[in-house]
Order: sequence, then C-alpha cells, then structure tokens
Amino acid sequence: MSRMLLELRRVRAAHDGITVLHGVDLAVRAGEVTALLGPNGAGKTTTLRVAAGLHPAASGRLVVGGRDVTGADPGDLARAGVCLIPEGRGVFPNLSVRENLLMMTFTGRTRAQIEEVAFARFPVLARRAAQRAGTLSGGEQQMLALARGLATDPAVLLLDELSMGLAPLVVGGLYEQVADIARQGVAVLVVEQFAAAVLDIAHHAAVLVRGRVERRGDPDDALRTELSALYLGSA
Ligand code: ATP
Repeated sequence: MSRMLLELRRVRAAHDGITVLHGVDLAVRAGEVTALLGPNGAGKTTTLRVAAGLHPAASGRLVVGGRDVTGADPGDLARAGVCLIPEGRGVFPNLSVRENLLMMTFTGRTRAQIEEVAFARFPVLARRAAQRAGTLSGGEQQMLALARGLATDPAVLLLDELSMGLAPLVVGGLYEQVADIARQGVAVLVVEQFAAAVLDIAHHAAVLVRGRVERRGDPDDALRTELSALYLGSA
C-alpha cells in the first residue's frame, strides 16, 4: 500500500473566534486523489489553508510525509512538498506565461527544466509563452497555475475549486491531467463545491457539512445520489 503523505487529525479551526472546522480527519496517500466536497461555507477552503500552513489549527495535528508539522509556517510546508493552488489560480496576469514560469526558478530548477515539464503536459502554454497570463482563457490560466505548482515538485497538491468558471469539457480535461499527476506519486486533495468530473478521477471522497465530515467513502453512485440530495436540500 502506498505511503500516507498528508494527514489531518481531528483538526479544529476558527475564524474570528467562531469554530468552522469541528475535528476534521482526512488522509491522502501518494498516488491518490481525494475529493473534499460540500456546500458553500462548509469549511473546505479553510481545510486546505490549514494543510498549507496558512491558517492555524486550534487543535488537532497536521502530518506531512509522516512528520508532525502542526504549527509550521507555509514556507516550511512548501519545503516539505505541500503546494496549494488557490481558488482564482494565483497567476500573475500582467506577466507573460514564460515569466510566470520563470519566477518558479526560485525552487532551484532551471528555466529549461520548468518549461520542459510545463510544456510537455500543457502544449498550449508553449504556444502562448509570450502572451500575458491575463489574456489566457480560464482553462489555460488553470493549466499555468498547475504548471507553476508542478515546478515545486510537490509531494502533496492542494487544489481549490479548479472548475470555477470553466466549461465542463475543459474541467474534464484538467482533471485528466490531475489524475495523471497523482499517478506519478503525488497525493492530491481537491476541493470542489460540486463537480461530477472530480468524482470520475477521485479514489476517495469526503463530504464536509458545517465543518464536519458527514460522509466518506468511494466516489460511487450512492455518494453521487447523496450529494445531489444534499445540494437540492440546501438550495
Ligand atoms: P466556499 O465554497 O464558499 O469557498 P468553503 O467550504 O470553502 O466555502 P470556507 O471558505 O472554509 O468554506 O468557510 C468556512 C466558514 O468560515 C464560513 O462560514 C465562512 O463564512 C467563514 N470564513 C471563511 N473565511 C473567513 C474569514 N477570513 N473571516 C471570517 N470568517 C471566514
């Protein structure tokens, strides 16, 4: 069985003194994709922020690669191989695609190494290399965000609402790439409000409701039906 790379153990977290995560347990193995789903405000983004060291856990433990890193700074977690691709993608719109990639040379990788990995996975980025990132389509910007993340050679990839504002076909293509990234040994934790496409590639799914994991298991039909009921119920 492959190695557990990311674990949240009984994580509680608060915003402005109000508890929004009530003891979340999550574990992601190398080579696997876990989908963390749930309605608006359930605490999905906060969970990813705790995993990236951006938000403190009020209690509970964060374990990366078997090492307890609770309370570590985002920089320490980045060096431990944790990479967060936030909602909104976080590319620099006024820099070209090439410049966005070039900035990732802080990792110690050369420009050529970074471009080789990025352009092999996303050939359209090579064709758009001189173009300002802000002029790319949403899907291409998400590719660039993923390519920047891959330049850090992540052990754990945290993806927040990758599908935001994108057409289903584009989302499907991006998730195929995410599945392939996982196959190379990365532990991937994906947050989505609702996206069937992520269930097509996920090995495990967890449903977060008001800061608690209400359901976890295989992304099977039963889970899909329950999710539909949850969203219809909360509409
Ligand atoms: P969404 O899909 O809307 O992003 P989410 O499941 O990612 O939702 P979070 O963004 O983690 O949920 O928010 C969980 C709870 O914490 C919500 O009630 C939200 O209002 C609150 N919250 C999030 N960020 C802050 C903040 N910076 N300050 C105060 N409260 C916050």
